[in-house]
Amino acid sequence: MLKDWYFQIEEMYDQMVEWRRYLHQHPELSFQEVETPKMIASILESYGIEVRTNVGGRGVVGTIRGAKPGKTIALRADFDALPIQDEKEVPYKSKVPGVMHACGHDGHTATLLAVAKVLSERREELAGNVVLLHQHAEELSPGGAIAMIEDGCLDGVDIVFGNHLASTVPLGIYAFKSGYSMAAADAFEIKIQGKGGHGSAPHETIDPIAIGAQIINQLQHIVSRRVDPQKAAVVSIGSFHSGNAGNVIADSAVLTGTVRSFDEEVRVLVEQELKHLVNGICSAFHAECEIQYSRGYPAVYNHEEETNVFVDVIKSTLNEEMLVEMPAIMGSEDFAYYLKERPGMFFHTGARNEEIGASYPHHHPKFDIDERAMVDAGKAFLGIVHHYLVEKAEEPVTEAAY
Ligand code: MN
Repeated sequence: MLKDWYFQIEEMYDQMVEWRRYLHQHPELSFQEVETPKMIASILESYGIEVRTNVGGRGVVGTIRGAKPGKTIALRADFDALPIQDEKEVPYKSKVPGVMHACGHDGHTATLLAVAKVLSERREELAGNVVLLHQHAEELSPGGAIAMIEDGCLDGVDIVFGNHLASTVPLGIYAFKSGYSMAAADAFEIKIQGKGGHGSAPHETIDPIAIGAQIINQLQHIVSRRVDPQKAAVVSIGSFHSGNAGNVIADSAVLTGTVRSFDEEVRVLVEQELKHLVNGICSAFHAECEIQYSRGYPAVYNHEEETNVFVDVIKSTLNEEMLVEMPAIMGSEDFAYYLKERPGMFFHTGARNEEIGASYPHHHPKFDIDERAMVDAGKAFLGIVHHYLVEKAEEPVTEAAY
């Protein structure tokens, strides 16, 4: 009975808090995770779960085999932290200077470990398998997901689900969206090679700052005039470095920025137009330029059927009022790669509670979650597994069928 599964994960709340706070105090940066995957593997092994470590680098994959055959459902939790100084005044504050779990990945990990414990004791009830994807390095492109996929983490998997705890969503709410829900994130660097000289003699120079200013302005033309207004795109310049004296015209300038989009055709268009504009502007003003454009994570595309399953599970086993359809967001997630390989969906579990200070945005030095959100996220995972491996489990083939 799913009710018993839910009760069991509620009972694991203190354990989840303990794991989450331990991870919060001992955060590890993307691609540098050593102790976190060890801890995850040893907890999973203690529950008798088959574990594969160093998957795609630092990932940990657990497999729970049900007593009967059926589908294989993968559940994903990322476990890396960020290069941010923890500024919260709490007993579980990060002990690593300049490193902090400022996106809730500690909570994702604790949630999936608790789900693993519950399911490891329910093998007899399961027709099919559950694959636990504990993923390293979500925060830093190229990310851990793609390497784990290349290392076979989705072999035999039919459907994949992921969760993100969200300080932007109130505790007790699940936010979801069918179709595109998070953006593709690409990065660029533009180097303008001008010709330096005296500030009093601009005619003898090629001023990379004046040219850079034109580029910054004209890049917005892409979003306002080139991209279909029904479709979303963002072009932002995040840095512009040039010069160091007021009476000197600099020799070169470097600009960096980010591009966000959903549709592949918009993604391609923005890249082409950006290169076209930057080359054209530099050429018009007699400067040379170099553009480095690199693709980051693709857009998160939630498949309709699996999104409907998620919605039905929450409605029928918890409460319809916990569901909120969210607008797509321009942030990105490497969960997108799993959804390019398999059907599935990525939902957001509300962890916001202003009363306890869990209201700062993600990646903020005071970011925190209401830890009760881990129970909600765990229930959603358990409800999904129950749906596929218990409720919808194919009828066993009986003698009479022959
Ligand atoms: Mn995150």
